[in-house]
Amino acid sequence: MGMSYTFKCNKCDYNVESTGEVSVGMQAVLSPYICNDCNIITDVMVGMSGDVYLKEWFENPKESPLSGFEVDMKDEFFTCGECDGDNLTDWNPRWRKCPKCSGRMVKDKNEPILLWD
Ligand SMILES: [Zn+2]
Ligand SMILES: [Zn+2]
Repeated sequence: MGMSYTFKCNKCDYNVESTGEVSVGMQAVLSPYICNDCNIITDVMVGMSGDVYLKEWFENPKESPLSGFEVDMKDEFFTCGECDGDNLTDWNPRWRKCPKCSGRMVKDKNEPILLWD
């Protein structure tokens, strides 16, 4: 089961629920990205059944180990949940940059952990 946490910016009032790092659930594998169009952190599906896929595989599925089923679902992978776009940047878990300002996102330990599947 995947777990998510609340992260709060130390400079502005932005906060977000996110897995914070690559997180393997019962079916989906989620990883947090910054959507450069929405300026938000969004958990993006990056794989299934414990396997993390490469974005390049969906761009060139014939050269990839993806099944036809997974290729048919390509719109679900590496896609922002808000805008359905793919202008995404890895949310570096070491730095946890705020997408709204120059602050850092800090995990709120007082918040209960949410299970997302
Ligand atoms: Zn901020
Ligand atoms: Zn977006």
